[in-house]
Amino acid sequence: MAAGQSAIEARGVTKLFQGAGQDAVKALDNVSVTIRENEFFTLLGPSGCGKTTLLRLIAGFDFPTDGEILLYGQDIAPLPPFKRPVNTVFQNYALFPHMTVGQNIGFGLEMLGKPKAEIEARVNQMLKLVRMEELKNRKTSQISGGQQQRVALARALAPAPKVLLLDEPLSALDFKLRKDMQIELKRLQSETGITFIFVTHDQEEALTMSDRLAVMSKGKILQIGSPRDIYDRPSERFVANFIGDTNFLEGDVQAVNGAEAQVKLASGAVIAAGLPEGVKPSGRVTVVVRPEHADLVKPGDAADLSGKLETVVYFGTDTHYHLNIDGGVPFIVRQQNSKGAGTGFSAGDAVGVKLEAHAAQVLRD
Ligand code: ADP
Ligand code: MG
Repeated sequence: MAAGQSAIEARGVTKLFQGAGQDAVKALDNVSVTIRENEFFTLLGPSGCGKTTLLRLIAGFDFPTDGEILLYGQDIAPLPPFKRPVNTVFQNYALFPHMTVGQNIGFGLEMLGKPKAEIEARVNQMLKLVRMEELKNRKTSQISGGQQQRVALARALAPAPKVLLLDEPLSALDFKLRKDMQIELKRLQSETGITFIFVTHDQEEALTMSDRLAVMSKGKILQIGSPRDIYDRPSERFVANFIGDTNFLEGDVQAVNGAEAQVKLASGAVIAAGLPEGVKPSGRVTVVVRPEHADLVKPGDAADLSGKLETVVYFGTDTHYHLNIDGGVPFIVRQQNSKGAGTGFSAGDAVGVKLEAHAAQVLRD
């Protein structure tokens, strides 16, 4: 199959749940997204934004109110869950506690009526894949949370699905284990070549693990892109706020040249700012700048912005400089620390800010 082929496509998917009384909950609102074969794709968003609902529609546990879901270009509406080449790892693992690790992993294959020898071989292969060979005959009630997570993964992978859905699979694990499992999941995905659709509300997890991600809010997908796209060029206020720390500057568009605008800030300074695709702004806009995409300089030293340094907060790896830039707007500059050296600036100093190339980005809204 061609690289980059669509594995799962949602087209204008809306899902309404009938709530108490008259008002229905719009869990998904006209969602369209294409997930490519072999991709590690993440749905990122706060609790209640519709992530689980979208996974359930893909798995076939529920049906869209409107729109369609395609698997390799085919509408899968007529297929019941067990006929879809899709498997799910649930947030609570949903293992059978009275069964052994091996029996849990082989369960799906047994339901499919596979021959005993084939199941045995596949279970052993899966145990090896998740590095659990020694615990094959242990009951799943007698293994740790991290080990249960591995068994749940092995069980979901055993029938060789084309697409694996993972609904916040790491949220029950403590920090250290979660970090280990993140690396483990990446390894599993590249070794098996299976398309992973991973759900999380943790922005750092989404950035470090995904080939691409979709940021969701209130049933809508706001932005889809690579982690770097999303981080460096957030196009919506919600995305800029939800992922990382951001400075917000208000200004007026003076000119637009292709994908860049000249924006005049309250201080009178004019800066160049990138535009989201298809946006031709005029009038008032909001511009975002990541704190680490700006540097402190001496006032006047070819600075893009100028202001007063209010507070310096040392974090070991980096230092955060809280400024009040001319026009009375707060602005944070974050600089990596190197041994022994500071920037030489202290609270109360007049300072300049130099923006890195393409540091500033206009928001769509
Ligand atoms: P997430 O997984 O992002 O936390 P969900 O997809 O579980 O969000 O839920 C999205 C919205 O749909 C929420 O407002 C939730 O309360 C509502 N919802 C989900 N399932 C049902 C249901 N079966 N009946 C009514 N409302 C539901
Ligand atoms: Mg959920």
